[in-house]
Amino acid sequence: MKRIALIGCTGSIGRQTADIVRRYPDRFCFSSLACGSAGEELSALCQEFHPRTALCAKGEFTPPVGTKRLVVGEEAALFADCDVALIAAGGFAGLRYTLLAAKAGVRIALANKESLVCGGELVLRAVRAHGAELVPVDSEHSAIFQCLSFRRDASFARLVLTASGGPFLHASAEELEHMTAADALRHPTWKMGAKITVDSATLLNKGYEVIEANRLYDAPFDCIEAVVHPESIVHSLVYFSDGAALAQLGYPDMRVPIQLALTFPERLPCEPPLDLARLGTLTFLPLPAEKFPCFSLAVEAGKAGGTLPTVLNAAAEVAVYAFLEGRITFPAIAHTIRDALSAFPREEADSFDHLAETDARARACAHSLIYGKSAS
Ligand code: MG
Repeated sequence: MKRIALIGCTGSIGRQTADIVRRYPDRFCFSSLACGSAGEELSALCQEFHPRTALCAKGEFTPPVGTKRLVVGEEAALFADCDVALIAAGGFAGLRYTLLAAKAGVRIALANKESLVCGGELVLRAVRAHGAELVPVDSEHSAIFQCLSFRRDASFARLVLTASGGPFLHASAEELEHMTAADALRHPTWKMGAKITVDSATLLNKGYEVIEANRLYDAPFDCIEAVVHPESIVHSLVYFSDGAALAQLGYPDMRVPIQLALTFPERLPCEPPLDLARLGTLTFLPLPAEKFPCFSLAVEAGKAGGTLPTVLNAAAEVAVYAFLEGRITFPAIAHTIRDALSAFPREEADSFDHLAETDARARACAHSLIYGKSAS
C-alpha cells in the first residue's frame, strides 16, 4: 500500500490522482490531503479517503473524525508518514511544499512547474541532501524519464520536447491582438487549469518545460529543443549519441504519467493503448518562437538562473490573470514579463525566503506595469 500526500487535491491533477486511488484502493491511500481554498471539496475528499492529516491553506473545512486538521505553519506534518508526495499545487506556492517534501526524504512526484523553474537549485540541493527522489509528472518530462529507463542521470545527446502549439498556433500577429480569454481557454488537446492553458497558448509553458528539463536531467540548454506536434500523441523524445531516438507515445491523458510517478518501475493498467492505424498521421512543425516571445523569455531567464526565473514567473502570473479578466491583450502578457525582467538584476537564489521576497516584489512590479503605480 503506497501512502500518498497529495498537495493540490482539488485541482485538475489532484482530481485525476483521486480517480487513480479510487481505481486501485488496495494499492494506494491518501495519508494527507491539502488544497488552497476549496474547503468544501476537501471536506468531501476527507470523508471519502480518511487521510490522517488535511490542510486548507486559505479557507475553512470540516475534517471527519480521524483526520487531523492542520493549519498554516504546520505544512511539514503533511509529509510525516507518506511514501510519495504528489505536489500538484499550482504556482509559486508549490515550491515551499516541494522543499518540505524533499526534507522528508520521500519520493516527490512533481506536477508543480514553479518548483524547478523558480527554485530548481534549492530543490535539487534539498533532494540530494535528504535522499529524496524526484519524479516528473508532467507528460513531457515523464516521457523523457521513461525513454531514459527511469534514470535522471542517464546519458543522452539531445532532448526534444513536443508542444501542441496551443489554440493560437496558426493565428496571425494581428489576430493575436484580439484573442480573448475564452479563445485561449479552448485548448485543442489537453484539459487543464486556466493558468496553464493560457501558458500553453503563449508557449510560456514550453519555455518552463525547457528549464525543467535542464534542471531534471542536467541537460545543457543547447541540447534541449521543442517541436510542435499538434496531435499531442508523441509526448517527447530522447536522441542518443548514435543517432537513435526513443519516444513515448500515448493519448493525451495525464492519468498515465501521474500513475506512473506513483508506481514506477512497476506499471499498472491505466488507459487503452494507442490505435495507430486509426490515428493515421502524426505531424511535426518548427516551434514559431518569434510569434510567441514568452517561450524565449522563459528560456533566457532559465539560462540566467538565480532569481530571474522567479521574476519571470511572478510577472507571468499577474499578467495571465489580468488577461483572463480582460484587462490586457494577449501580446501584452509577453510585454509585461519582458518589462518586469528588465527591472530586476540577477541575484543568487540562496534561500526560499529570498525567492519569496523576489516573488512579492516582482508581482508588485508587474501589477504597477499593468494597472499603473497608484493602483498597486
Ligand atoms: Mg506539459
